[in-house]
Amino acid sequence: MESHSSNRIGPGYTLALLLVVISAIVSHVTLNNLVGAYQLVAESERKIRLLGELRAAVVDAEIDQREFIVTGEERFLEAYLHTRPSITARLKELSRLIAVEAGQSERLIELGNTIDRRFESLNEAIAIRKDRGTQVATSLVRNDQGKVLMTRIKTMVEALQNQQEVLRATRVNDAEINANLRSLTNILSTAIMLCVFGGLLLLARREEATRRESGAARSKASADLESRLTALQQRHHEATVLGQMSSFLQTCASSDEAYAAIARFGPVLFPGESGVVYLFNNSHNHVDPVASWGSRRGDTTREETFSSADCWALRRGRMHVSGADESSIACTHIAHAPGEIARPGVCMPMIAQGAASGLLFLQARDVDAATLSAARLEFIASVAEQMALALFNIRLREALRQQSVRDPLTGLYNRRFLEETLDRELSRLERKTLPLSLIMLDIDNFKAFNDTFGHAAGDAVLRDLGSVLQRFVRGGDIACRYGGEEFTVILPEASLEIGRQRAEMLREAAREMRIVHDGKALGSVTLSLGVACSPEHTRSRDQLLQMADAALYEAKSGGRNRVVVSGVKTLKVVETPLQRDLAGH
Ligand code: GH3
Ligand code: MG
Ligand code: MG
Repeated sequence: MESHSSNRIGPGYTLALLLVVISAIVSHVTLNNLVGAYQLVAESERKIRLLGELRAAVVDAEIDQREFIVTGEERFLEAYLHTRPSITARLKELSRLIAVEAGQSERLIELGNTIDRRFESLNEAIAIRKDRGTQVATSLVRNDQGKVLMTRIKTMVEALQNQQEVLRATRVNDAEINANLRSLTNILSTAIMLCVFGGLLLLARREEATRRESGAARSKASADLESRLTALQQRHHEATVLGQMSSFLQTCASSDEAYAAIARFGPVLFPGESGVVYLFNNSHNHVDPVASWGSRRGDTTREETFSSADCWALRRGRMHVSGADESSIACTHIAHAPGEIARPGVCMPMIAQGAASGLLFLQARDVDAATLSAARLEFIASVAEQMALALFNIRLREALRQQSVRDPLTGLYNRRFLEETLDRELSRLERKTLPLSLIMLDIDNFKAFNDTFGHAAGDAVLRDLGSVLQRFVRGGDIACRYGGEEFTVILPEASLEIGRQRAEMLREAAREMRIVHDGKALGSVTLSLGVACSPEHTRSRDQLLQMADAALYEAKSGGRNRVVVSGVKTLKVVETPLQRDLAGH
């Protein structure tokens, strides 16, 4: 459309220019012709006028001559004499004007000659009047042939005038034709130019409209393109950051590490929103905050545990937007500073392996924040999914790790963990030249306990002892179930003496245990304990275990319920009433 108009406007302007030039030339030519025609008409009129004046002058000369002859007054003679030069001048001008006209020059020459002859006779009469008086001159005038000459002059002038009249009529006609032609060409060229300029104006208007239309379309297209490009860049940025966060989360060794990573990536993923990640507690009726970012003053309540009933997203198992418009119902867990309008928020349930694990909550930093686009909500959903999946995997890994290092009955570490840790601790302390004590302990007469109260009651004893050991160990100490009813406590940086003291304390603690199973009090158990120390006894892990075990064996054979330090004989025997009962069985 646009190119069509442009294609026609160019040649249109050239045509218009050509027409203007042609019309100017035609106008010039017709005007010249018209002026020429009117000049010719004026010339004819002048000749007619001159011929008339010529005849009148001859008549005046004749009258003045007669007056002189009759009166003899000099003034008449003077007037007569004045007439002659003016007649000559008019004849000269006429001969110049008539020069080109066929047959006219000859007639004019003849007229001139006739006038000359007439003047000769008039002069002659004047001379006679001067020489011989009025009588002679008057009679001469009466007999004068002058009358004939005058008639000839008159006839000749009239003939010439008639001819000039005819010529003038022809010229007037020519001039009229010229004038008509000129006005016709003027009208025609004006009409053509009006048409051409009108057409050009129409084309220009149409082109302008098209240009405006296409300009608007182009600017709309470029705005569209720009916004699509911005959106693409945004998607790319989001995908990059999300990818980075996922890869970080995958390498996190613990949930705590993962929460820290989420808190660090949160502001990058959601620069315009503050956020909190909540996870369900064990009973699944509350959610606890585990990571947050960008919170503002007055937002604190949001980062507290709340009931899952307070969140529409958790209740319905799908995304919920609060405060986007008047019709939306806000979740009650969304808090805001007193007197402040609640900012729009998005609650996105975190679902992994088909089960809800928590909530990703985002809140706009500004009250009048723009409504989140569908693409942005989709992105929030994928972030929540990635987080949920990563946290699920980390928890799974943690559980597996727990299972592989923990004893399920007592919650203490298992033997495999003990051996690994012992190796590590021994080499660490060796570098620091610090000691490590190891306590090996075994429940006395446990078989008899089992046999008396049943296996479940025996399990209860093991569990209770596990709790005692958990409480007993300090930070850095490691309590393990070595196997069956045998336990080990590693005391890094503890000397042999400290180890012995701690073993004693343990023995006491076990003795004070009050075992209750199925509502029945089952009394207490006693422990036999062996203590060995590195580097005092050995630097080898296996030997340390063997030496502690040997000391334990010694404690058993020494009478049970006692502590034996490796290589030291003790004979401490304290039997509880229960033990005595059991021994009796
Ligand atoms: P001693 O004083 O010589 O240690 O006598 P004891 O009866 O404790 O020794 P023994 O090694 O003969 O018995 C160990 C018993 O511990 C055998 C088994 O019934 C019991 N036992 C081992 N593991 C468990 C367990 O997981 N649960 C229960 N209830 N009993 C266990
Ligand atoms: Mg035992
Ligand atoms: Mg045993």
